[in-house]
Amino acid sequence: MTIKFLGANREVTGSCYLLENKQKSKILIDCGFFQGGDKSQARNRQKFNFKVQEIDAVCITHAHLDHIGRLPKLVKDGYHKMIYAIAPTIDLSRLVLEDTVKIAQEEFRHTGEHKIFDEYDVVRVMGLFSAAEYNRLFEPAPGFKVRFRNAGHILGSAFLEIEADNKKYIFSGDLGNPDMPLLLSASAPAPADVLVLESTYGSVVHERGVSRTVELQEAIEQTIKNRGVLMIPAFALERTQEILLAINGLVENKKIPHVPVFLDSPMAISATEIYKRYAKTHFSRKSLQDLLVDRDLFDFEGFKYCDTVEQSKQINHTPSPKVIIAGSGMMEGGRILHHAKRYLSDPRSTLLFVGYQVAGTLGRQLFEKARRVFIHGERIAVHSRIKSIGGLSAHADSIDLVKFAEKTKTSLRKIYLTHGELERARGLRKTLLKSVKAEIDIPKMGEMGE
Ligand SMILES: [Zn+2]
Repeated sequence: MTIKFLGANREVTGSCYLLENKQKSKILIDCGFFQGGDKSQARNRQKFNFKVQEIDAVCITHAHLDHIGRLPKLVKDGYHKMIYAIAPTIDLSRLVLEDTVKIAQEEFRHTGEHKIFDEYDVVRVMGLFSAAEYNRLFEPAPGFKVRFRNAGHILGSAFLEIEADNKKYIFSGDLGNPDMPLLLSASAPAPADVLVLESTYGSVVHERGVSRTVELQEAIEQTIKNRGVLMIPAFALERTQEILLAINGLVENKKIPHVPVFLDSPMAISATEIYKRYAKTHFSRKSLQDLLVDRDLFDFEGFKYCDTVEQSKQINHTPSPKVIIAGSGMMEGGRILHHAKRYLSDPRSTLLFVGYQVAGTLGRQLFEKARRVFIHGERIAVHSRIKSIGGLSAHADSIDLVKFAEKTKTSLRKIYLTHGELERARGLRKTLLKSVKAEIDIPKMGEMGE
């Protein structure tokens, strides 16, 4: 089997792999958006460098935009066969893709730039989705046996075990942070010949357990003491629910004084509803136990959903201290920008990062302590405190990634590191070489593997 690397190579977005076996069957794994930087939209528009009509099936690891964003373009360019994913991934994909169309419409109004796809293409994508089950081997195309396994990254996320041409392959997708309490942790991978492994946090070790919640508690307490605003740019899927769960715990256990907490993101509100729908089958045992005493793990005293623009504007009229959770997670758009414009220059306020900030995004500039930024063309001086809690990440860290690789190692001969900036991937390669006897490559976009 050959693997063509078509995205998220030496960077963290644009995931896409084309696999071809000896029977000439072709499947695609993920078909994501490139994000961050001026060139990303141009790259999303580019023609696929394979014949779309020749693809026999698509398998999607999870619903993050950088794994599904180019699906509507794929369909627009002529793809009309099945797209396999775990059931909640299908629901979340609809949400993410519809939101992307909405953002593109707004951009069109501002810049006149034509949309890559429209709502009609999204409807057609949704029609091609077929629900896969965890742990069940099936044959999406002749000569490809595929098994979706729980990746513990976001609701419905999967890594894929694939058998083709008498070899076993694992595509990790994005692996979850096993320390996060909400969902079931990742399944253990079976031994494989070839492992394609993400490396987002390839050279980073997250804070563990208690310190993470304590840090969040401290950030909230400091905000209350300063009578400031705590802004948390959060990804609508997973980050938001984990943060709500953590604050819910702090409030229910009376660890923090009363403070208004706003979730200012229609998409995150809808995503939270989808999470609740799949609680029984996807939540961890601990979360299910908590549900016996607390009917809603994402709701607590002082908490308010802000769905409409009017509700969002009302947040301004609520006196500080207050906590605002809003998208987008990397501050590339969304309602967080309105709050950032208002409060970034206030030294009593805090901007708290809880997820990965891709190079080229406003979030990354602020994360790297820029003292002034431009929002909606306006120059904003940054006086608020900038903090981050790595332990709240939805991604495995270098220790988890090495453990994952070690489980596959009995027959492992090759590892390809993808989905990570080059420095992170190199860091992970160095660590892996100590415990795994396999050749380790960090492929460039367009390169072939086997
Ligand atoms: Zn992801």
